[in-house]
Amino acid sequence: MTDLKTGELHSDVAVVGAGPAGIAAALALAHLGAKVALVGPAPAKIADARPETRTAALLTSSVDFLKRLDVWDSLVPHAASLKVVRIVDASRSLLRSPDITFRASELGLEAFGYNIANTVLVETLYERAREVLPSVLPTTVNEITLNQSEAQLELGDGTHIFTRLVAGADGRKSVCRTAAGIGIDTHLYDQGAIATSFRHTLPHEGTSTELHRELGSVTSVPTPDAFTSSLIWVASMAEIEELIACNDSDFAAQLQSRLGDVLGNVSDVGARANFPVGGLSAKQLAHNRTALVGEAAHIMPPIGAQGLNLGLRDAAALADCVAAALGRGHDPGCQAVLNAYVRARKLDILSRTVGVDLLNRSLLTNLPPVQAARGLVLAGLNALPPLRRMVMRVGLAPPAALPSLMRPMAEQANLAQAPHLGA
Ligand SMILES: Cc1cc2nc3c(=O)[nH]c(=O)nc-3n(C[C@H](O)[C@H](O)[C@H](O)COP(=O)(O)OP(=O)(O)OC[C@H]3O[C@@H](n4cnc5c(N)ncnc54)[C@H](O)[C@@H]3O)c2cc1C
Repeated sequence: MTDLKTGELHSDVAVVGAGPAGIAAALALAHLGAKVALVGPAPAKIADARPETRTAALLTSSVDFLKRLDVWDSLVPHAASLKVVRIVDASRSLLRSPDITFRASELGLEAFGYNIANTVLVETLYERAREVLPSVLPTTVNEITLNQSEAQLELGDGTHIFTRLVAGADGRKSVCRTAAGIGIDTHLYDQGAIATSFRHTLPHEGTSTELHRELGSVTSVPTPDAFTSSLIWVASMAEIEELIACNDSDFAAQLQSRLGDVLGNVSDVGARANFPVGGLSAKQLAHNRTALVGEAAHIMPPIGAQGLNLGLRDAAALADCVAAALGRGHDPGCQAVLNAYVRARKLDILSRTVGVDLLNRSLLTNLPPVQAARGLVLAGLNALPPLRRMVMRVGLAPPAALPSLMRPMAEQANLAQAPHLGA
């Protein structure tokens, strides 16, 4: 792919951004036969800038995707199964909703998914990318020039990449999005989120507990150690600033007062980092030889574990669209391929962003009718197991067909063996 004389690099797709969504996209594209260059600072460099304390609860389709990309086996020792999700209304409202418990076993599943530290996930994906991709360039993209037949990327190390499609997985301040002339809609909620971890004296038993309260939520998520959970604390900006400033024992005391006896005594709080809570939606998912992937396209509040799962579905769907085009000898960056990508992703993205936004707003409001409606929905879910199962299925899978690399291996094998009925 590299012309040694000129130092120029030529690819079908240049993936910009070595975050989890970008690396997964590069691996998926290469797995399906595209010539890919992955550009972005290496994970260690990013971790220097701000401690990455987040974990990601990955749903079953994301796990199936990681299996197909041959990274899952390395992740297993670091993954905690998520068997039960408990939602508790800890507000002071007179119209408190009933507690609700979702069990993976009700769907015949061992787990809804697995919780993994972002650092481990990204480093493992990056290692795999360095093993299998011909071009992994640990630098930034400084400039992008788009024209009718190709895109040209100028990198921080002076390299030039000529490519037919740019996969913009470069996060919230995406240069790819700007270069393609794609605008954004944003929404700030005056909330922040702290991601950290803590030890507790009662075992978590694979249960994630979400305590919803006025202006935010406190969510514990199991880690591979039965007595350690990761924590996402969403609250008003002012409260988050106070919680970040306080010392470890004061933070543990505050957490204890929120969690009560849910996990026994709380101790050994890990490093804390805070993240802005907001919504961002790109006005177009793809335009001008550029397809957006992950947080470059959509950001949502960290409730319901949807963000990266959605980004991984973008990655897998883009790989399908590009592979189909290359298989027919078509240009992978042409408008028809970009349109196919938008069609494949728009309903899933819209339903998740709107759903998470509504849930977050329902937690922010003091309006009795909204609180009563939430209570009624949760009471209905408690009383009606089929409805509860339906909600769990919707939470796990997108409203459209899963991309090919996210279908369970068994389903893939059946498809391969099935007689070819098409013309
Ligand atoms: C507290 C919290 C908890 C969360 N928990 C979950 C969860 O349980 N489950 C879930 O599914 N999601 C969760 N999320 C969301 C999830 O963390 C994000 O969706 C995910 O990390 C975004 O990945 P990304 O690859 O899209 O973007 P990023 O991780 O932001 O990656 C973008 C990459 O682009 C690179 N980049 C930027 N500019 C350039 C440039 N010019 N050139 C080259 N590279 C560039 C950056 O260095 C970076 O590596 C959570 C989020 C928060 C805040």
